[in-house]
Amino acid sequence: TTLFESVELAPRDPILGLNEQYNADTRSSKVNLGVGVYYDDEGRIPLLKAVHKAEVARIEAAAARGYLPIEGLKNYNKGAQELLLGKESPLTKEGRTLTFQALGGTGALKIGADFLKQITPDSKVFISNPSWENHRALFERAGFTVENYTYYDAASHGLDFEGMLASFKNMPAKSIVVLHACCHNPTGVDPTLEQWKQIVQLVQEKDLIPFLDIAYQGFGDGLEEDAKVVRLFADLGISMFISSSFSKSFSLYGERVGALTLITSSADESTRVLSQVKRVIRTNYSNPPTHGGTIVSSVLNSPELFSLWEEELSGMRNRIRNMRQQLVAKLKEHGVTQNFDFVLSQRGMFSYSGLTSDQVDRLRNEHGVYAVSSGRICVAALNSRNIDYVAKAIAQVL
Ligand code: PMP
Repeated sequence: TTLFESVELAPRDPILGLNEQYNADTRSSKVNLGVGVYYDDEGRIPLLKAVHKAEVARIEAAAARGYLPIEGLKNYNKGAQELLLGKESPLTKEGRTLTFQALGGTGALKIGADFLKQITPDSKVFISNPSWENHRALFERAGFTVENYTYYDAASHGLDFEGMLASFKNMPAKSIVVLHACCHNPTGVDPTLEQWKQIVQLVQEKDLIPFLDIAYQGFGDGLEEDAKVVRLFADLGISMFISSSFSKSFSLYGERVGALTLITSSADESTRVLSQVKRVIRTNYSNPPTHGGTIVSSVLNSPELFSLWEEELSGMRNRIRNMRQQLVAKLKEHGVTQNFDFVLSQRGMFSYSGLTSDQVDRLRNEHGVYAVSSGRICVAALNSRNIDYVAKAIAQVL
């Protein structure tokens, strides 16, 4: 027998499979709403001006490319942490915060999951139903049992808040609960701040371990506004994990820019935790890459570039909001009587459109409009040229 003889073919990634089908489609009117990427009104992935300026400066500086520290660039970590916790976090002053440059939000989740497995191996992990499809796979691969908590309510196109609370009440102490701190992927449905306050209270009462995932900070209501949930948790002072990503907010998908932030109970704990997380990183990839981290760090630490970035991020957020409004208006124009107003209250790049998988199939086959079979569409892939076509196609399959 050969070494690889018994290796079975893994199931295809459903979203990447969809992309392959889209690329092979020869219809010029085709539209890909299956992706999780922000496109500008020209249908291109933008290179932000703030990023470009930082890159030009970096190339001109002709800097050497030595190894970074295991935990990454100091100023990158400081900037990433301040976006989450604010500039004046008392936790930081007490030495209770740690931030590690990570290979995207995914890398942050992976380092966090591996470290959790080391310190609390018998905990269960709970993720929202539904959640970003990699959450389950990633925590299972780290050795955990993963279960769902109630989240989305298809009938109301909103949150099943009572169900969510009930799930939390049933979780064993020390369970790890993965929460989307803003702009839930895939539904676009977030709890209100009032609801979050109840969730936070329950997490504390039930002695759960919060793992906040924030991959879309700035895409909800703004950088500071979208950090509110993180700060609600931080105000409790309980130990927690936060994975954050700049992939979307900096339009730097391929640079793998993210961060893992931990809150501990004391400076002494931090010292020990730092040493152990560094070991997890060291045995995975040794240390993070320089380019993306340096660019993000330059932007976060320059007042001029920061305000340019914030302006560009607002531009992305407002364009998505505008597309939501146009989609709802155009569906009405094309004779749809069903109420789609829920699309307006959803947050971030995605909308759970309520389309069934049959309707999604018809959209693709009859109109060349590609969406995920769950009905998730990427609103950030709509633009002034394709929106009318998409609305008309949806109207025809309803
Ligand atoms: N968490 C969520 C909820 C996401 O949607 C994503 C990206 N799609 C990630 C984490 C991973 O982000 P990154 O691409 O930076 O690894």
